[in-house]
Amino acid sequence: MTEIVTSIRELRSRLATARTNGSSIGFVPTMGYLHAGHARLIESARVETDNVVVSIFVNPLQFAPTEDLSTYPRDIDRDLRVIGDAGGDLVFVPSVEEMYPRPIATTVRVDGVSDGFESVARPTHFAGVATVVTKLFGIVGPCNAYFGEKDYQQLAVVRTLSGDLSLPVTVIGVPTVREADGLAMSSRNVYLTATERQAAPVLYRALCAGRDAIIAGETRTESVEVVITRVLASEPLFTPDYVAAVDATTLQRNDALDGNVRLLIAGRLGKPRLLDNLGVTVGAQSL
Ligand code: AMP
Repeated sequence: MTEIVTSIRELRSRLATARTNGSSIGFVPTMGYLHAGHARLIESARVETDNVVVSIFVNPLQFAPTEDLSTYPRDIDRDLRVIGDAGGDLVFVPSVEEMYPRPIATTVRVDGVSDGFESVARPTHFAGVATVVTKLFGIVGPCNAYFGEKDYQQLAVVRTLSGDLSLPVTVIGVPTVREADGLAMSSRNVYLTATERQAAPVLYRALCAGRDAIIAGETRTESVEVVITRVLASEPLFTPDYVAAVDATTLQRNDALDGNVRLLIAGRLGKPRLLDNLGVTVGAQSL
């Protein structure tokens, strides 16, 4: 049975009891409106840990005033079904007042991996994410925490903060779950019109073209980015914000590709911004 907890104190006490009984904790932070991508994170936690906690919190700190905080899609009843089916034990659904009873004076800022890419369009976003994730890790305590590769820069930010601050958390990246036509699942896909939805797989097609160019022997960063950009340009509804081939760990962009590479795309398709990425190892099979 999946149980809902709304207070920090109650969650801490439940997890303390679980730990006393020797249980390991798996933690899956989300903003709700769950889909099969979130379910995959929960399933991974289910397999690897004894007690699976899923949080649902639409974190105001990571939204700019112009963004969709008030209209972010929500459906708690459906979320509870998804969590139950995927094997979640406990759902933490705090109110904004529970998380931020007074204006928060502390901000966690992660240099380096936060820079560029998403931060160009959303300059305050990762500080909001890093702050809430640090707070959630403080609330949940020692655990395995599961994050999607779908938000690749976010995953790098979370890995970095957890390591830098020696938090007792093992951060685990889970591969992106896609629709049958390649579109990466996202809560914000609901904003797409029918025409935009048809156009949306262009991101994955473009990433695959970039990956194939690398597999065929291309190692110049710019050439791979040109291949990706050309495919994206075939779809006039999509306006790219960035296309980049970067080192998979540091997110640094070098002139020549080597080792584990991540291809990153983001841009606007109608109302929503869509992001996607794909891994490929230079001189080896694709990830
Ligand atoms: P969100 O609710 O959008 O904040 O996402 C919560 C977690 O689910 C994050 O770690 C995301 O990276 C992850 N996630 C979102 N979409 C997918 C997907 N299509 N496949 C795998 N993980 C995902």
